[in-house]
Amino acid sequence: MDNYEIMNTKTTKQWEQSINSCEFVVSIIYDDRFPIDEVKTRLIQALERNEEFCRSLKVDLRPFSIELIYSRLEFSQRLGRETEAWESGYCDNNKFIIFHPNFFEIETSHSREDFAKTLTHEINHLYINQINPKKLWWVSEGVAQHIARQCPKVEIKTENIEHFLANSLSQNKNYRDYIAHQGYAIPREIIKSASQIYGEEILIELIKVKADKNAAKKLAKILYTDSKRLNQRITGLITGNIIIKNYA
Ligand SMILES: [Zn+2]
Repeated sequence: MDNYEIMNTKTTKQWEQSINSCEFVVSIIYDDRFPIDEVKTRLIQALERNEEFCRSLKVDLRPFSIELIYSRLEFSQRLGRETEAWESGYCDNNKFIIFHPNFFEIETSHSREDFAKTLTHEINHLYINQINPKKLWWVSEGVAQHIARQCPKVEIKTENIEHFLANSLSQNKNYRDYIAHQGYAIPREIIKSASQIYGEEILIELIKVKADKNAAKKLAKILYTDSKRLNQRITGLITGNIIIKNYA
């Protein structure tokens, strides 16, 4: 569908939904030739999952919008760069774009069932953006994948772990460079191991860490270590070889 007309063909509808006495206001921007019933059903599930996770933070998610995308070309144009087949959603502040479920299998490398997971992932970004606009990118990507249960097993390269520790662990530097060095797979492993070892509550603490000069110190404290041993602790979480005796 490369010739899909991007402009002037979409309708915006506002939709209100109450879940567990939380009110959500969503604007859905879509092409009315393709129904959005599945989007709405999945959206309720995605909001429920995130509301449950973020409940202790007592956040009222501010109104947000979802724009449905119908072709890879449109997605890439929206991001201003060529995008890869695995990219299926993108969140910016309180708005995100995502492929319409009918186009998920055609335009991305995912199966149609993964639409629900991407939706849950992007909704998680809305929450984290609101809780801490200065969050660390890796925490945001790791937690979003964890909540959305996106867990493909990927081998992580040692040089990428080194790159991550040097450039991304306690700062947000260059987003494309970060993503290009297994910026999804590495935080997926850290968050998975950290929540198994220390409990899911730790994720809430990680979300609150700001990408500033105190970040390394705060991360170390949350992970029961000190700044000197932080890299070692993180490497242990990534590779699954954490030394439990350091957990004090
Ligand atoms: Zn993401």
